[in-house]
Parts: sequence; structure tokens; C-alpha cells
Amino acid sequence: MATFESIYSMGHEQVVYFSDPSCNLKAIVAIHNTTLGPALGGTRMWNYATEEEALVDVLRLSKGMTYKAAVSGLNLGGGKGVIIGDPKTDKSEALFRSYGRFIESLNGRYITAEDVNVTVDDIENVYVETSNCVGVAKVHGGSGNPAPYTALGVFRGMEASLTKVFGKRSVRDRVVVLQGVGAVGFELGKLLDKGGAKIFFTDISESNIERFKEAIPSAEYVNPEEIFDIECDVHSPCALGASINDNTIGRLKTKIICGAANNQLAEDRHGDDLKNRNILYAPDYLINAGGLMNVSIEFEGWSDTKSRRMIDKIYDTSLAIFKISEDEDIAVHTATDRLARRRIESISKIKTSFLGNIGHRFPGRKNRQNFVH
Ligand code: NAD
Repeated sequence: MATFESIYSMGHEQVVYFSDPSCNLKAIVAIHNTTLGPALGGTRMWNYATEEEALVDVLRLSKGMTYKAAVSGLNLGGGKGVIIGDPKTDKSEALFRSYGRFIESLNGRYITAEDVNVTVDDIENVYVETSNCVGVAKVHGGSGNPAPYTALGVFRGMEASLTKVFGKRSVRDRVVVLQGVGAVGFELGKLLDKGGAKIFFTDISESNIERFKEAIPSAEYVNPEEIFDIECDVHSPCALGASINDNTIGRLKTKIICGAANNQLAEDRHGDDLKNRNILYAPDYLINAGGLMNVSIEFEGWSDTKSRRMIDKIYDTSLAIFKISEDEDIAVHTATDRLARRRIESISKIKTSFLGNIGHRFPGRKNRQNFVH
């Protein structure tokens, strides 16, 4: 598809290509929608086979961020950055500082953070050149490791799902199956264990399996290929995307799917299929938004209390989405999109009033009382 056709059809406001041959920087930043605020989303570094692949990725990811911020109640728009290159060989201080200068030139329309293959150290280099980044080190006023906050959000989403299905919020004695016990799965496991859940888990990393066994001895390990066959109350995908697909959906013996992984449904039709099978699907991009909520408050001064207070609301928002899904007889993923779109539309329509003395904003111009926006 031609570039403008893609941008236009997906509704992006702006797509910017940055290049700096001195440090081999090739980056694309996509700003999808800034109705609610500056576009915030991480930067991913990936050895894309083609430029088109990089563009498709950044367009898709930035649009996802618009929906994620909107449904999470954040005053942020959606954006994302990609750097084309091999993270093992092409990273340098100069590359991330050059990228930071380009971000600075966007004048706050886009705020970046870590994403796949971009670490806190890389963002620290970006931060030398622009303050329009979050996820900086805690010693510099940042928010540190997002995993415990992402896990807390997933836990709140799980409580909402249990309330919806069983009429009781508690995880006590519920059987929960964790697919993946990496950064988020591990933290989620600890919350579930504390709440009294019975945990089955799987992973493919020996060290992560050992760490989990040590922290939660009562949890039972299951082979990765058997994880979809376990009878449970909650199946929690915390590894990769697209785990709910044609091969796995018929095997699930669960009432609820609720996990941290992004894009768990291989295709949208799998969300409709879950609804038909009477399996409640927790709104994925809302319940894994704890990490985004956590970095979003860096600008006003991060605190653990503020972060948790915000993330706790995932419980109520999830229930609101389940209600839309039921009232309008639509799948949960469709209801989540609908809620996000409704918020953006409603805010875009609020009355714009004259903002006061504009003289100081446009020095040298006379103030006009009948200023029309
Ligand atoms: P991670 O890499 O730390 O953990 C993923 C775990 O899944 C690893 O232990 C890995 O060995 C395991 N795994 C991979 N393939 C597997 C398979 N086939 N079967 C079983 N286990 C497998 O990642 P993370 O930060 O914990 O994130 C987990 C998911 O949540 C990802 O999809 C990520 O995009 C999403 N997410 C994470 C955050 C965050 O704050 N880290 C925020 C939002 C969404």
C-alpha cells in the first residue's frame, strides 16, 4: 500500500522519518492521534527486513497506543517510534542521542520510552537531548521497572473478570494457569499466591522456571504444549501474542482469559469465538496498561501511591467494558475499542472557549476579544 494511503486509512496525524548517517540512524515516529494529549509510546529497535515492514509496525503500534491511553483514562495520545537496525551491533550513544534530538524537534507532540530492544540505558542517552521521554532511571526521577505495575493491573483485571463470572472478586482457591513467568508473569504469580490462588505455570526459560519455583513452591509446573489443556478458572497468557488462535481455542477449559501479553487474539474473530464459547476475555490493552499508567505520571513527579491509585481503576473500567459487551451483545475486544473511541470523540467535541489573554502567546499582536478558533 502507498505510504499516504496507509497513513490516511489508519487515521494517523503525522509520520516522521529521521535519518543521521553519522551514526547510522534510521528511525520512524508515527503520531496517531493527539486529541487527548501528547502522543506517548515506546521506541522499538528491530532489524526490519524492509522499510515497509518498519512502517507497517510503527503505524499499527502507534494506533494501538491511542486506544490504550484512551480506554485507560489517560490524557495522552498514541504514538510509537521504531529504529531500523540490529540491536546487537548497531546501538551507540550517538545513535540514541541523535534520536533524542529529533524527538526534541517534535516539540512535545511525541514522548518516547522503552520498548522491545530499547533499554533504560538507551533512554538515558535520549534523555540527554530531550526531556520528552519517560522510563528514565529512578535516580533521575523516573519510575523504574514497570513489571510490578503491569502485573498489578492484570491482577485488578482478573478480579473484575472473577466478579463478572463468579460474583466474587477474590482469587482465593481459584485455579489460575500462567503461560510465561518472565518479568510480569513472575510478579503476577506473587500477587496470586498472596491472594490464595492455586497456580499452574509454564515457561521455556530454565532460569525463569527455577526462580518461580523458588518463590512459589506450591505452584505446579506444566509443559508448554500442555498449558492449554489444563482445567482452570483463569488462563493467563503472559508470554507472547497470538496465543489464542485456531489451534488453541478449542482446547481451552477455562471460564476467563486474562493476561499481560499484547495482542493475545491471533485475529479479531477469535474474540467473537470466545464470546460464543462463553469464555470471558479480559480487555487486553486495558488490563496490561499498568506499565503505561506508571510512566505517564513521571512528568508530574512519580510516586508509588499515585501509580497504584491509577492502576486500581482498571477494576472498574474492566467491569464497565464487560457491561457494554453484554448490553450491546458484542465481544469484549469490540466493546473496549468502542469505549476508547467514545472517549476520544466526546473530548474532541467539548466546547472550545476563548483561553484568555492571547497577547502573551503571540507577542507583538494585539489582543482580539472575538478570537475565533
Ligand atoms: P518477558 O520476556 O520478561 O517474559 C516472557 C516470558 O515468556 C519469558 O520467561 C519467556 O521465556 C516466556 N516464553 C516465551 N515463549 C514461551 C512459550 N512458547 N511458552 C511459555 N513461555 C514462553 O516479558 P514480560 O515483560 O514479562 O512481558 C510479557 C508479555 O506482556 C509480553 O507479551 C509483553 O509485550 C506484555 N507486556 C509487558 C509489559 C511490561 O511492563 N513488561 C507491559 C505491557 C505488556
